[in-house]
Amino acid sequence: MSGNPAVVMRLLASAYTVAEKAGAIVRRVLHSGELGVVEKTGANDLQTLADRLAQQSICASLSRRFPKVTIIAEEELPAEEVGEDLIETGQAEEILHKTCPAEYSTLKEEELVVWVDPLDGTKEYTEGLLDNVTVLIGIAYGGRAIAGVINQPFHNYQLGEGADLGRTIWGMLGLGTFGFQLQEVRGDKRIVTTTRSHSNKVVMDCVDAMEPHEVIRVGGAGNKIIQLVEGKASAYVFASLGCKKWDTCAPEAILHAVGGKLTDMHGNAYRYDANVKHMNSAGVLATLRNHEYYISRVPQSVLLALKSD
Ligand code: AMP
Ligand code: MG
Ligand code: MG
Repeated sequence: MSGNPAVVMRLLASAYTVAEKAGAIVRRVLHSGELGVVEKTGANDLQTLADRLAQQSICASLSRRFPKVTIIAEEELPAEEVGEDLIETGQAEEILHKTCPAEYSTLKEEELVVWVDPLDGTKEYTEGLLDNVTVLIGIAYGGRAIAGVINQPFHNYQLGEGADLGRTIWGMLGLGTFGFQLQEVRGDKRIVTTTRSHSNKVVMDCVDAMEPHEVIRVGGAGNKIIQLVEGKASAYVFASLGCKKWDTCAPEAILHAVGGKLTDMHGNAYRYDANVKHMNSAGVLATLRNHEYYISRVPQSVLLALKSD
């Protein structure tokens, strides 16, 4: 059935298969051994051939089918013809069969904004920390992240040869989440997950201010949100600029669909309209539960340094 009447469900069904294709590209480039690394703003801000090809695949595939949707993607690439081998035309039947939540059933293509991070965790990708890597496709309407797809291309890679490699997680407000088992951190343990490659004193001081029982330092915004919904961490704390709208849109939609919360360090929501600035200048604080506790612990110095939009 490809006739789901709701545009947003068809877009989400395409985003699912397109993210899987991008995940396959990310694996293929790694196995080729030719990563084609380029420094963007510096050694901790990288782009590889996988980022470039995955973005071309995602953007060309989605814009061909949904020409009126605004698509905003991380990498600045020269406008060039995208090879047919990069185009994905499939749609996830699982999503096409779902009933669209009533509030989104009449949305038009031109009202939707798609935020694309073709490869989140590039630094870790180049260092072989493969489970940190995700492909992120978020869908926004009215400035809010309403649906998202996260493909984790190397999920299960530690299990070795023969393991079922990669998975796709998705979710939508008012509909639910799929592709993972929701779990919470046991007891009242505060496990804070934060950056491993974009840290500084303010970032670490803010983590310490949460009085965590444990701190995990891993790459990727998508990866850290997966840790929250799978019971590996209680809060994602990043008191710095650096994270962008394409890093948070898909993860936020999935987190919100399970009752969690993603805000800046002041507790204010980010907006995902087509004309917003890309930088999440006031940091990222994401939790599954007890958001108010973490907000209440943010040091005054952080609040003064990181202004809400
Ligand atoms: P991290 O937790 O360090 O992996 O960051 C999450 C996302 O934000 C990744 O896509 C990073 O590339 C991005 N990011 C965070 N801080 C910076 C920064 N200082 N410069 C460039 N990108 C950053
Ligand atoms: Mg990213
Ligand atoms: Mg990226």
